[in-house]
Amino acid sequence: MYDIEKIYQATSVEDAIKHLVADPDSLIIAGGSDILIKIHEGKLAGCSLVSIYGLDELRGVTLQEDGRIKIGPLTSFSHITKDPIIQSYIPVLGDAVDEVGGPQVRNIGTIGGNISNGVTSADSASTLFALNAELEITGPNGSKIIPIKDYYLGPGRVDLKNGELLTAIYIQKDNYENYYGCYIKYAMRDAMDIATLGCSVSCKLNHDKTHLEDVRLAYGVAGPVPMRCPETEEAVKGMAISETLFDVFGKTALTEVRPRDSWRASKILRLQLAEELCKRALKEAIRRAGGEC
Ligand SMILES: Cc1cc2nc3c(=O)[nH]c(=O)nc-3n(C[C@H](O)[C@H](O)[C@H](O)COP(=O)(O)OP(=O)(O)OC[C@H]3O[C@@H](n4cnc5c(N)ncnc54)[C@H](O)[C@@H]3O)c2cc1C
Repeated sequence: MYDIEKIYQATSVEDAIKHLVADPDSLIIAGGSDILIKIHEGKLAGCSLVSIYGLDELRGVTLQEDGRIKIGPLTSFSHITKDPIIQSYIPVLGDAVDEVGGPQVRNIGTIGGNISNGVTSADSASTLFALNAELEITGPNGSKIIPIKDYYLGPGRVDLKNGELLTAIYIQKDNYENYYGCYIKYAMRDAMDIATLGCSVSCKLNHDKTHLEDVRLAYGVAGPVPMRCPETEEAVKGMAISETLFDVFGKTALTEVRPRDSWRASKILRLQLAEELCKRALKEAIRRAGGEC
């Protein structure tokens, strides 16, 4: 059974904000795939909920006039994978969210809930980091846009003040045009398992596809929150596609990641994965970009 004090169905974003402000202890519920489990386990027993699940204005993927891709936070994983805009411009994000749980979870779970629970293993997060995603946060004082890295304050904590909610995810055209990506999730089981390590690479090649013009490397479970590796990215920019490039990429990444031991895997295994997965993801991203390696 679910021990819930009360649940309010918001009729608009403004209505949700009004209720969150009026009842500061109430929690937002979207698809419920995380929060209902916590209630069921007793961690949030007796809580009050504000449901935003009925707000269609927060659902779907659109291409804006300025070329930005806008993803509504209530968009389900299965919607994202099948969406033609995602498939045309950022297929790596569709691939990443297709790694989440099983079909039922992918139908009910939302991308907004996936990043708002603040968990380092969220399958969408590292790819959103690699795409330099920006988040629209709306609250009683209006809306603001922040880089996704500023959303994460620590394990399970995101930067939402009372009355605020995530209302959009944006990917700027400069961040996806001519970029090709690859996400690799390593988990102990093939299905229904949280990532032991997740690695997302997004790269752009030079005109004759022999050199790496730009690259972005992001991980999940390589630290307390999803992370980018800026020194690794700088170390290989402009390099020719060669084994040296992949060696430098893997070795430099090891100097930036900060995985830890957990019951799922040891720190040593995660370090090995961090080095190997980034090389594999970069090779595949280069192949998708039309390069040879
Ligand atoms: C069986 C199972 C397997 C799973 N496997 C995976 C997996 O492999 N990979 C993975 O990444 N995840 C996995 N998950 C976790 C889960 O499916 C995701 O994290 C999901 O995206 C959460 O979305 P939701 O809409 O259900 O969020 P909810 O449970 O409704 O909310 C989650 C959190 O986000 C907050 N929130 C939701 N929407 C907003 C918003 N718009 N603004 C502000 N705060 C918001 C809520 O207050 C809550 O704190 C699994 C879950 C289950 C049950």
